[in-house]
Amino acid sequence: MTAAPAIRIENLVKRYAPAKGANGTTIEGKLALGGVSFDVPEGSIFGLLGPNGAGKSTLINILAGLVNKTSGACEIWGFDIDRNRRNASRSIGIVPQEIVFDPFFTPYEVLENQAGFYGVPGALRRSEELLAAVRLADKRNAYARTLSGGMKRRLLVAKAMVHSPPILVLDEPTAGVDVELRRQLWELVSELNREGVTVVLTTHYLEEAEELCDRIAIINHGQLIANKPTQELIGMAREKIVAVTVAEDLAAAPAHEAFVRVEWDGTRAVEVTYDKDRLSAGQVLAILQEEGLTIEDVTTREADLEDVFVQLTGTAG
Ligand code: ADP
Ligand code: MG
Repeated sequence: MTAAPAIRIENLVKRYAPAKGANGTTIEGKLALGGVSFDVPEGSIFGLLGPNGAGKSTLINILAGLVNKTSGACEIWGFDIDRNRRNASRSIGIVPQEIVFDPFFTPYEVLENQAGFYGVPGALRRSEELLAAVRLADKRNAYARTLSGGMKRRLLVAKAMVHSPPILVLDEPTAGVDVELRRQLWELVSELNREGVTVVLTTHYLEEAEELCDRIAIINHGQLIANKPTQELIGMAREKIVAVTVAEDLAAAPAHEAFVRVEWDGTRAVEVTYDKDRLSAGQVLAILQEEGLTIEDVTTREADLEDVFVQLTGTAG
């Protein structure tokens, strides 16, 4: 028996309603999701990666019940969002892209109010435990408006977890936050995942998806263009680079039919791009030496997610 996915998305379409423009013109309805399908495996940290405007928040907001889909189907923890909205909502905690709080509530009150909203009985409330988990125990009674941006972000994660959902979704949790806070959030997310929570996060940071996620789906212009285990996705970038410095200025760039591309700075630096399925770095160096080059220094560069992303979308991330 295979485990049912934590989330199932089937042929999801969202077309936003046409809007009124200036001078009575009509702005055509925007097709934000053009028929997207994928499953989020239970227990994973799943990255939904894509540039701004790709449709990530639209998808998350449909799961959250904040945006109505045009067509298609979504199941959360086996519950269809149309037929079983209540159970679907109880199975998911969502940290929205925008930070919104009533500034006059304290972190403790924010969590208690949310628990009340979900009807969590007193004995099952986790406000203190969650405040400690997001390192806000000492801010328990501070007004939300006095918290730093990073603290607010962490409070939102705690707020999403008050009803102990098996799935946590974070929409661009680290957009515009500093390196230190990003680290903290990654740790928090990993910790929750180790405790069994399935995590979905959207991001336009390749590095973040690469470091944190065990599976990545890439979305661009409302279309899913990849959905693979992170390592496999990185492996898709077949091109590798060997950069060498030679002993003396070259008269011309070295060339060989097995090279994909050669860049030469006009003096002693040469970068050879090659297809790793055809050549190894050692073979590239051997070819260069056969051409009479004396190699002084060598570095190689592994493909990373950025390469894959550029290859798949044709745009820089
Ligand atoms: P992402 O989160 O990946 O940056 P969004 O889902 O926010 O992308 O947006 C996808 C597309 O839908 C964009 O072109 C955006 O301008 C459009 N869009 C988003 N929200 C609305 C809305 N409420 N009304 C009309 N168009 C929208
Ligand atoms: Mg967004």
